[in-house]
Amino acid sequence: MIDIDGNTKIVGVFGDPLGHTLSPLMHNAAFRYLKLNYVYFPFRVKKSSLNDALKGILTLNICGLNLTIPHKIEVMKFLDEIDDEAKLIGAVNTIKVENGRLKGYNTDGRGIFISLRKDCRFNPEDKNVLIIGAGGAARAIAIHLALCKARRIVIANRTRQKARKIAQDIVRQTNCDAIDIPLKESALIKESANIHLLINATSIGMNPADFRLVKEKFFERASNLQLVYDLIYNPPLTQLLKDAKKYHIKTFNGLGMLLYQGVLSFEIWTGKKAPVHVMRKALQKAVKNKG
Ligand code: NDP
Repeated sequence: MIDIDGNTKIVGVFGDPLGHTLSPLMHNAAFRYLKLNYVYFPFRVKKSSLNDALKGILTLNICGLNLTIPHKIEVMKFLDEIDDEAKLIGAVNTIKVENGRLKGYNTDGRGIFISLRKDCRFNPEDKNVLIIGAGGAARAIAIHLALCKARRIVIANRTRQKARKIAQDIVRQTNCDAIDIPLKESALIKESANIHLLINATSIGMNPADFRLVKEKFFERASNLQLVYDLIYNPPLTQLLKDAKKYHIKTFNGLGMLLYQGVLSFEIWTGKKAPVHVMRKALQKAVKNKG
């Protein structure tokens, strides 16, 4: 337990629903380990109450926040300052409160980048990346990898228009090449031979009965594929990762991204180096217990 007293600093997450969040466990474990007088609290804030809740954080002296569904985009209009990358992504998942001012950041893209480098020993620079999905997470990842000098980003999504918007923004605002393709077997296979990294940024795979996003033929032809990264971490081994393993391709689930986006938020709020091993252990334990 954290000993709360009159000097305890409060951080937390605004979202709705919040039942699934592992962030309180990860951050409170880190605060305890470093003996920092902070507590991380989940605040269930409805979509329509965001403005009131943000006014409340100044009144209540809350010093930092994470934002999750459905607030990441809407929150931007209430902030005093937004970091350049978050502006480009068009979403904020972290706020730091300083001298009564709210500054927004997005740590999702950098979170997966650090996980790719540290957990997977994979450097996305000059690589071709296929991202399946074009929701909030896909957009943050695609833009960050483009800024980190990926060579080409291919985005496949059920709703093609969303993939197109991300690809257009990348081409317009970075030096990376990007295209959108339909989420169809033939289109994926056409790209397969050139891809070095495949990322699943859809929710397909959370349920074991879900359809296969990528068929075996894709893996048969993906002669340059080095790594398959699934943002899903529960279950830890999705059908996509099982299939990739059959072809001896390195695989990772999304626990690393969850960890490092949290590490970055922690460091923004506290100015201290996060105890990564403690945060990872807290997440691994929670996923094991939930699974
Ligand atoms: P969004 O709701 O913004 O996007 C969901 C994506 O999944 C869209 O591309 C959507 O396609 C696609 N999708 C949903 N259902 C289907 C379907 N039946 N067939 C094809 N595509 C489908 O969610 P997020 O971007 O926030 O999250 C995406 C995934 O990433 C989730 O599984 C989430 O849990 C995970 N995640 C993991 C994180 C981590 O730290 N590991 C962080 C953030 C997210 P369409 O556009 O056509 O609707």
